[in-house]
Amino acid sequence: MSTNTPIKLTKVQASGSVNIHLITSKKDLDAISEAKDLKKKIAERVGDDELVFSIPSNDGLIIIAKAKTEKEMSYRFQSARALGAKLKKILNAEKAKEATLISTSEKPEDTLAVVEGIVLANYQFLNYKTGDRNKPHSLSQLNVFAKSVSEKDLNEVYAVSRGTFAARDFVNEPPVTLNATSWSKLITELGKETGFKVTVLDKKKIEALRMGGLLGVNKGSVEPPTFNILEYKPKNAKNKKPIVLVGKGVTYDTGGYNVKTVQMAQMKSDMGGGAAVCGAFAAIAASKLPVYVVGLIPATDNRIDGKAIVADDVLTMMSGTKVEVLNTDAEGRLILADALHYAKQYDPELVIDLATLTGAAARVTDYHGIAMCSDKTDTSKLKESGEKVYERLMEFPMWREFHTAIKSDVADIKNIGGAAGGNITAATFLHHFTHYPWIHLDIAGPSFMTSDVDYRVKGGTGVGVRLLYDFIKNSLA
Ligand SMILES: [Zn+2]
Repeated sequence: MSTNTPIKLTKVQASGSVNIHLITSKKDLDAISEAKDLKKKIAERVGDDELVFSIPSNDGLIIIAKAKTEKEMSYRFQSARALGAKLKKILNAEKAKEATLISTSEKPEDTLAVVEGIVLANYQFLNYKTGDRNKPHSLSQLNVFAKSVSEKDLNEVYAVSRGTFAARDFVNEPPVTLNATSWSKLITELGKETGFKVTVLDKKKIEALRMGGLLGVNKGSVEPPTFNILEYKPKNAKNKKPIVLVGKGVTYDTGGYNVKTVQMAQMKSDMGGGAAVCGAFAAIAASKLPVYVVGLIPATDNRIDGKAIVADDVLTMMSGTKVEVLNTDAEGRLILADALHYAKQYDPELVIDLATLTGAAARVTDYHGIAMCSDKTDTSKLKESGEKVYERLMEFPMWREFHTAIKSDVADIKNIGGAAGGNITAATFLHHFTHYPWIHLDIAGPSFMTSDVDYRVKGGTGVGVRLLYDFIKNSLA
């Protein structure tokens, strides 16, 4: 089992046989000599809308493409990525192995958004397709012929896409092959490949640390849990205190005794937060960002047997807090509580946790964004990154009234709140275990696609990787 890698990206100084001319206005058509006869026809169509024109040429193919004109930065980049996804379709339909993207744009980020769209859309998960059904896309290399785009820019798109692919793969692997232990091995391999350190705590160590939340959720499983510690600390790190990224790693969620009776399929995606943390580390380490980051991923599946916890049980968390379990399907917060408590020893500058935590979050964001809560922590830079990479943040307040919703009759707190604001009461529960600047991201909505939408192909999306990378890179500036 190994994870998928993106297509090769190379900066070139000349056109090839399959050329994509990226235009922004009619004026750009003058630079394209090959399409003389068609220029007038194309010029008539150049307006605000997206345009894709493909013409066979003597030795290959010419594609003239323009992204939809948008004023707002967020939509502008997203239109460019969506155009990339369309170009990927054409290139594979034409069985092109290699293509050259030619851009005269002075804004490198607009060209790079198209590149990113092509690369991310070209992702495939074929591990379980046999024989004729295994149809890899033909496209394996994209050349970029653009003055404003540097080799470093392309390496960065590759690194972030590599991280996104790893996160997608981790989610897409079925639970029969991906349990906590096999996932930890894959994370260790990814660390070796891209340059970050991984320490895996096994069940014995988790017991010694008294991680009652993680052990409690794991009680009904035949597979032992793991607690994964990722570290990237280059000598030139600009921060003394680390940024800690915490990811929920429920490799499969049956709901436990509060079994999921309506929809259980896709619950292999309940590790999307942990997968995103791994992907972000891969991108940060491969790009050698001068930042000290720590990642914490508690991993287990949530299953049923005679030993499994039931509603009414009380668990003692690593912090000593006693939690009344009133719903075994609200397990993510139980394992995150231990990870958030563990984070304290790092005296972190900031902790961000990512989790496919609540249906309540998914119902308000759909796949269009992420539900966020924080405790008086400045979220403006993270929001900016969210707009840029189109993993947008919808912020919810944690009003004090929501604290009373998780008060327990028999223990310190309980693991579910009332009917309203499920994503907020979940965040309020997590807040109990944090004593540092903290931002909580509920990615239940955008973590998994049931149909293809532009570069977000069916299955795990790797949401969070691009967001965390962009935020951490900009927080250094
Ligand atoms: Zn659950």
